[in-house]
Amino acid sequence: MSRLIVVSNRVPVPDKRGTAPAGGLAVALQSALAARGGLWLGWSGQSCGEEDVGPLRSVKDGNIEYALTDLTDLDVEEYYHGFANRVLWPICHYRLDLAEYGRREMAGYFRVNRFFASRLLPMLQEDDLIWVHDYHLIPLADELRRQGVKNRIGFFLHIPWPAPDVFLAMPVHEELLKTLTAYDVIGFQTVHDRENFAECLARQGLGKRLGESKFMVGEHTFTARPYPIGIETDEFAGLAKRAAETTLHKRMLQSLDGKALIIGVDRLDYSKGITQRIDAFETFLNRHPESQRNVTLLQITPKSRSEVPEYEAMQRTVAEQAGRVNGALGTVDWVPIRYVNRSLRRPALAGLYRMAKLALVTPLRDGMNLVAKEYVAAQCEDDPGVLLLSRFAGAAQELKEAVLVNPYDVEGTAEAMARSLAMPVDERRERWRSMMKTLRENDVFAWCDTFLGELSGSTARPAYRAALPQGGILRSKAV
Ligand code: UDP
Repeated sequence: MSRLIVVSNRVPVPDKRGTAPAGGLAVALQSALAARGGLWLGWSGQSCGEEDVGPLRSVKDGNIEYALTDLTDLDVEEYYHGFANRVLWPICHYRLDLAEYGRREMAGYFRVNRFFASRLLPMLQEDDLIWVHDYHLIPLADELRRQGVKNRIGFFLHIPWPAPDVFLAMPVHEELLKTLTAYDVIGFQTVHDRENFAECLARQGLGKRLGESKFMVGEHTFTARPYPIGIETDEFAGLAKRAAETTLHKRMLQSLDGKALIIGVDRLDYSKGITQRIDAFETFLNRHPESQRNVTLLQITPKSRSEVPEYEAMQRTVAEQAGRVNGALGTVDWVPIRYVNRSLRRPALAGLYRMAKLALVTPLRDGMNLVAKEYVAAQCEDDPGVLLLSRFAGAAQELKEAVLVNPYDVEGTAEAMARSLAMPVDERRERWRSMMKTLRENDVFAWCDTFLGELSGSTARPAYRAALPQGGILRSKAV
């Protein structure tokens, strides 16, 4: 079997005790790496200031090598904060109004991709399979090809690919689209994303479509397919079951004092629809006064990307909004919204999901949304809670038995909350069973196998799960 080379912006390096900082994606990729032997390259998260970047830092764990590179201040500013997070992220989430396009940032983005290619080059062997992750590294295959690399290279986009009218409004769209076609396999979260990509190619008159998933640009043919990412379904279900025995769980139940728990878990990000959700919750409480004092919304919102001004502003807006609703509707012994601004560890999260009668997963746009899948996996099969899910999350393409809503429709979402809380247990069980079946069939290991099967041209499915590294499941956001 060929070695596997994973390249992503950040790398989940195991700590000194060999414990992986894991989470679904990291665990699946680490087990694929352990089965084949290989290398995971990415940014260390550190800047070397204005100095030249030093040698790679390497950490070995069995037959996996983690290789980390620093970047300069300028690189971090232009490539990471600049083009990746202030242009590509908003554009792929349909927020053209928030994209701050600058030529300097665009040039920095391509420069850092060239730099990653030059760092990888000396470590490559002839038959290595290379798997590149996410929007930070779209031009990497093109840079590797320019430097003479002939290996099979795959790419997986974790976020949405936007509709052509949105994508083509980005000044550098043509070059970016062309570099993407240098890969051998391009993975998207949904059919919808793949079709948006195909339409972008067609609108640009770039190459031709040979079949549903086959494309040709110049002499190069490649595959572009949906590979919806999953979670570690059974492991997460086990985690949630065990969490019911913990002290936190018991304290939480006590503090709820019989009130139904509604949960929202989202990084603080404008794509997550948090303000619309709080509006909908307030509308629900006003229209269903009998629910007041009987429900509590726990909104867990760890801060992210605080250096981007929109995120800082959003932090204030959401905190003020939650405070206003609590002030207007709360009583001395009932707080409608508990707003937590810190990140929780996954075992604690799993337990809270299981306790919640309803999860509000209402992003305005999301590549997949793993919280939706984790919530379903965490439920107790006899008395499962209800998933209220935005139709604009990638997960909605698979979890059709969720209560699907349009998050822009505040009143519609409020009514869906009322319906979900009143749903009879038979219907809840039926919906849950069907979603759980989907999550078991397409867990994160199956996702990894399918993508690597396509990339290596092999239909045999290596059992990566058997090669799971030691260590618990924690967070999947290392890439
Ligand atoms: N998460 C976590 N602790 C928190 C909040 C979130 O570990 O306090 C995890 C959550 O379990 C999920 C991930 O962060 O695995 C969020 O992934 P998702 O796809 O829902 O959203 P993203 O942050 O990637 O946009």
